[in-house]
Amino acid sequence: MTGAGAKTPTTSPLGALVTTLYGVGPERALQLGRLGIRTIEELLLHRPRRYEDRRRLQKIAALQEGEPAIVHGKVVAQGTKWYRQHTKSIFEIILEDGTARLHCRWWNLPYMEKYFALGDEVLVFGKPIALKPRTMDHPETEVLEGGEEALIHLNRITPVYPLTDGLPQRWLRALIWRTLQAFGNKIPDPLAPDLARLASGPDSRGARHTSLGRGEALRLLHFPEETEQAETARRRLALEEFFELQMQILQRRRNFESRTQALACGGDNHLIRPFLAQLGFKLTEAQTRVLRELRQDMSGRHPMRRLLQGDVGSGKTVVAACCALMALEGGFNVVLMAPTEILAEQHFLNFSKWFEPLGVRVELQTGSRKTLDMGDGQPVSRNAAAPLLVIGTHALIQSGFALEDLGLVIIDEQHKFGVAQREELVRKGNYPHLLVMTATPIPRTLGLTLYGELDVSTISELPPGRGRIKTFVRTADKLPKVWDFIRSQLRAGRQAYVVYSRVDEESLDVKAVTKEFTIIQEALEPFRIGLVHGRLPAREKEMVMTAFRAGEVQVLVATSVIEVGVDVPNANIMLIENAEQFGLAQLHQLRGRIGRGAQDSFCILVAAAKSQEAQQRLRVLEMTADGFKIAEADLKLRGPGELLGQQQSGIPQFRFGDLATDLVLIQEARELARRNAETLKR
Ligand code: ADP
Ligand code: MG
Repeated sequence: MTGAGAKTPTTSPLGALVTTLYGVGPERALQLGRLGIRTIEELLLHRPRRYEDRRRLQKIAALQEGEPAIVHGKVVAQGTKWYRQHTKSIFEIILEDGTARLHCRWWNLPYMEKYFALGDEVLVFGKPIALKPRTMDHPETEVLEGGEEALIHLNRITPVYPLTDGLPQRWLRALIWRTLQAFGNKIPDPLAPDLARLASGPDSRGARHTSLGRGEALRLLHFPEETEQAETARRRLALEEFFELQMQILQRRRNFESRTQALACGGDNHLIRPFLAQLGFKLTEAQTRVLRELRQDMSGRHPMRRLLQGDVGSGKTVVAACCALMALEGGFNVVLMAPTEILAEQHFLNFSKWFEPLGVRVELQTGSRKTLDMGDGQPVSRNAAAPLLVIGTHALIQSGFALEDLGLVIIDEQHKFGVAQREELVRKGNYPHLLVMTATPIPRTLGLTLYGELDVSTISELPPGRGRIKTFVRTADKLPKVWDFIRSQLRAGRQAYVVYSRVDEESLDVKAVTKEFTIIQEALEPFRIGLVHGRLPAREKEMVMTAFRAGEVQVLVATSVIEVGVDVPNANIMLIENAEQFGLAQLHQLRGRIGRGAQDSFCILVAAAKSQEAQQRLRVLEMTADGFKIAEADLKLRGPGELLGQQQSGIPQFRFGDLATDLVLIQEARELARRNAETLKR
């Protein structure tokens, strides 16, 4: 794992700098450095980008158009053609292998000339774009030499490495080959004993990676004899990375638990009981089960550190409210932080309605509205008669805010915050309990790595009595029909969201909310249309939201600021234009704004007609309403950074591990780490 610090002690021969290797001078060392390779270990961990099976060279005459292939021939002609006043060029070589000729062309890379000479034996990998004459554009090439070199580069499954300017593929491959020869049996294997034990355990994909030594894994990574061996080696090395991370997570959690003692926030039910009685609905089984887990944490020995996940609309807020009441029952104060003012205001409304009859003060603390006066800089202190719930945004972490006797911190839509912000809020108290909530269902791989030190509870069912959500992917030419449909729904008393990805127009391809707003206003006369986006003043946003909640505004034209939290059961239409601009998980969140009432709801995703691929991607949403499946698809398509949002820092970078596919390995690593820590304790 990069950045996690080398586990290998510096005394290991692998910790030596690459400059100690034969043939690596200052210039090469610099080039290697650009690839992140400074030590011999880093060199051996340089992962091939792909492999070429050079045991199966093709004849040039047998090339098929569009089929990638490797051929091998002699340069019989070469030259550069210049045009456009010598600003553009094509460099071309012609290869001949006894069966036919192949033209290889490179645009605007005139320096390619110096790589080839007439008579050179050249290996070429590429896709023929034409057969008359046979032509490849910008293929990958390698000039062959005879002798022992052939052993490394030819007649085998050959690794192809990521390179940098001036560093030749063959040189790097030969260096890695020689280094493996020299160090192959000196590679320390920190996992060896643990892995041997694990090898006896079950693994759905075959446990061969666990019986590989580290040295053997590295050899197979670079020079596998069969294609599958490279993957086995990758899994072995990935396991090591995951193990290292899991050990760190475990260690952090252990340290935390040895340092801290929990505040007694189990509660005595005197607030929860009346709260549930007046709520107007019964908690679902899933909510009740989760609540039991939370109560156990909050009356336990160590402060709670728990992630509550549940699909959009699964009813996390009520669970958080119960959790808050437990702390309040014990006389402790509670804070709840939400990522947007819109959501904080909405929570403020709900919690005030719920808690004030119980004699609990609820306060709001956002950038634009503060019901608490912190003017004298004194922390708000506990008043046994009236413990306090403070709801807010980032404003809560700003320095001026302080609250004594903080028993519980709740963070809603936590993926919109960074870990640092979360910790900052927690530090306002003396190890309060922490509940973080997210509606982006987190694929288990991410849950176990990114949130590895949190316990996880999942609300696995939606409350009963919800109408269905039907989802449609449409191209822009169908919009007139879509608007007709929306008009008919509005006439029936329903409300609609219309979402755009941009505030202002930047390109003709992507519509912007400010411009569309006026168009929609005219088109939907006499219905009332509201506008919200992130750049409006908070007061204006709140006025529009209030009007929309009250049904005075029928259509809310918005950016994705409404993505999180907004809860208006009468709204049953979600139209998203330029849907291809959003990630799947984000679209699922947006869709979660509807389907909250008993009536059926409709989500219409409009995508540019020209992007077949985008439309294909969006169909995942047509097919499933399961947030976990969608998040997994998104993880595979776009990676963890995109799935969780840019704010989410701290996604570990793996050389070999893949968060999209390696669940089994991560579970193994966790188990290994757990056993390892146990042996350490004894
Ligand atoms: P999310 O999990 O997305 O935060 P919310 O907490 O906003 O979902 O809940 C969505 C809606 O479902 C709210 O209007 C809430 O009052 C309602 N709700 C929550 N739990 C139940 C339940 N057990 N039965 C009926 N409605 C519920
Ligand atoms: Mg919510």
